[in-house]
Amino acid sequence: MENAKNIPEMFGCMVFGDSAMREHLPEEVYATLRRTIRRGAPLDIEIANPVADAMKAWAIERGATHYSHWFQPLTGITAEKHDSFIEPASDGQIIMKFSGKSLVRGESDASSFPNGGLRATFEARGYTAWDPTSPAFVRDSTLYIPTVFCSLGGDTLDKKTPLLRSVECLRNSARRLMTLFGKTDIGTINPTVGAEQEYFLIPEELFRQRLDLRLCGRTLFGARPPKAQELGDHYFGAIKPRVKAFMEELDEELWKLGIMAKTEHNEAAPCQHELAPIFCTTNTACDHNQLTMEMMKRVATKHGLVCLLHEKPFAYINGSGKHNNWSISTSHGINLMDPGDSPADNAQFLLVLTSMIAAVDEYADLLRISVAEAGNDHRLGAGEAPPAIISVFLGDELTEILDCLAEGRPYTKHDNGNLDIGASVLPKLPKDNTDRNRTSPFAFTGNKFEFRMLGSGASIADANTVLNTIASEMLDRISDRLEKTGDFKAEVKAIVSEMYRDHRRVVFNGNGYGEEWVKEAEERGLHNFPTAAEAVPHLVDAENVTLFEKHGIFTATELQSRCDIMLEMIAKTIAIEASTMLDMAKKDIRPAILFYADSLAAGMARRKKLSVSTISRAEKETLSRLTAIGDEIYDAIAALEEKAAAAAATENLAARALAYSRDVRAAMTALRTAADTAEALVSRDIWPFPSYTDILFY
Ligand code: ADP
Ligand code: MG
Repeated sequence: MENAKNIPEMFGCMVFGDSAMREHLPEEVYATLRRTIRRGAPLDIEIANPVADAMKAWAIERGATHYSHWFQPLTGITAEKHDSFIEPASDGQIIMKFSGKSLVRGESDASSFPNGGLRATFEARGYTAWDPTSPAFVRDSTLYIPTVFCSLGGDTLDKKTPLLRSVECLRNSARRLMTLFGKTDIGTINPTVGAEQEYFLIPEELFRQRLDLRLCGRTLFGARPPKAQELGDHYFGAIKPRVKAFMEELDEELWKLGIMAKTEHNEAAPCQHELAPIFCTTNTACDHNQLTMEMMKRVATKHGLVCLLHEKPFAYINGSGKHNNWSISTSHGINLMDPGDSPADNAQFLLVLTSMIAAVDEYADLLRISVAEAGNDHRLGAGEAPPAIISVFLGDELTEILDCLAEGRPYTKHDNGNLDIGASVLPKLPKDNTDRNRTSPFAFTGNKFEFRMLGSGASIADANTVLNTIASEMLDRISDRLEKTGDFKAEVKAIVSEMYRDHRRVVFNGNGYGEEWVKEAEERGLHNFPTAAEAVPHLVDAENVTLFEKHGIFTATELQSRCDIMLEMIAKTIAIEASTMLDMAKKDIRPAILFYADSLAAGMARRKKLSVSTISRAEKETLSRLTAIGDEIYDAIAALEEKAAAAAATENLAARALAYSRDVRAAMTALRTAADTAEALVSRDIWPFPSYTDILFY
């Protein structure tokens, strides 16, 4: 076949992964590095020079001229600074050089990245340090080296460091529990993640015509289109050739980078799509998701398209999220979330399952905060994405099993007759407990948990840092008890029943989109933080600080700085949106309305000269409605300006974020409503930017 592509050969060809390392590194160096990568052994700095040499040679073969320390600051996106390999040689020529020192450490001005007061500007240096556990790769003539980013004093300034710490912490806790179950030959334990990514693709020429899309990534105005997603004809629908071409190129680019792009389909909203990779270890999954988002944007422009990763680019249709599928597995292939077939495994599984129920209930606020950002406020609880209330979906069968255990009732499996749920004979659990309840924020889906509240544009690092830490905390509490007990089996049963009894309020299998759930959740005493601004200040609540400090994930200072950064980001994001709206309303929308009203009035005047009877009622009424709506917009502009000024002047950070999120947004909604009414009245060729219909049905 002439045009058959050799995908296995293409896969990972731009990654300095295991096979490239084996091929290019001296044997002992390879073995040492592999120990660090596989088992988390401390990095032997002696190997930096030979590794740098090999990396350089390998990268140059792939067209690289530069290298870059690639890191993930608190902006949530990635950062890079490029240096070429050239160094002067004695004869006035140059040589291509890359030293171990340049590989291991880089310096960067940290003062321009969000740092929440952790860095005084007089000491603006930040350091990037090589993370050997994530492979280097070549893209666009540059060798990218994944790094962590911290301050001179060692405070973390990135999303990666706490994530790596949390992975290590969970590894230890999971190993401790498995050891208690007599399992010692288990290899490396890792939390695994598969992040399903939703996105929109729209034509670039239309994108360019809208200031709101260009500056904010979402539309701030737009009348309801005659058709949206009500027919359900886009979900899993046939993929347009232009989009298909995009997806094919994206897949190839991702495969070259060693990313296992697997499933692609159209999503519910028009122009909305999804890509799911095959899951892998957390650190890699986090880098891969960042790269996937970056590649989506790049590849889209090659096809005359723009990829929108905002959580809510358009009103009236679904926004985009990210489903974080999460589990814990050993390198020998044991998944701790797998119900399994043997009773002994079931006991361990039930412990792990209930530990997560407890973790999610006790630290629901942290999970909520881990997905808190201005953009995600438009999704959570808007009847399309999980609500802002955290609950766990288990499915009827697992719920019944745990109910029985907690209440001391015998469990009856419906098709298999009675099953004694004593500690020695725990039931065979349903393997295919595949959940189709899409309204739950945290669902057990067969052999993993699916955390569905993440925003589409967000880094998955925060959510996974919290997941790993709270899981680790609960597993440790269990091990503390099991290490002391004389009757292991009885203690297992006691722990499962007690933990479940104490935390079952968080289990909810019903419709998470319903109004009734909001009321019921309140009666159950569950948190409900509808907006990010309300949730974020709880990051520094005493029990959360204690948790993170205990596990060595964040210091109290680091947490406070992260809290401040998040609040600042919320305030700034909404401030930019408000300014953009004002700009569009004053310079585009009001002039368009005036122009149309003038042309109507001029036409009426011309006709009046002929005879009064030629002026239609429709023209008169349209003109008077336009005049009224024009005034309404004028007033709404003034009101928004006032609220935005008041919010900006609010000293206290939490109060400022709240003022933007409540008052400024309310004024934005009023302005939008008025402008959208005008859009529906004004002639199509006068309206100053493309409509929803133009964009969504291009
Ligand atoms: P859906 O949620 O649409 O039904 P799938 O069940 O196919 O989709 O899986 C969604 C994602 O979950 C995929 O990225 C898949 O690789 C990932 N996944 C499957 N098993 C695990 C696991 N044990 N740990 C983490 N992610 C997993
Ligand atoms: Mg899913």
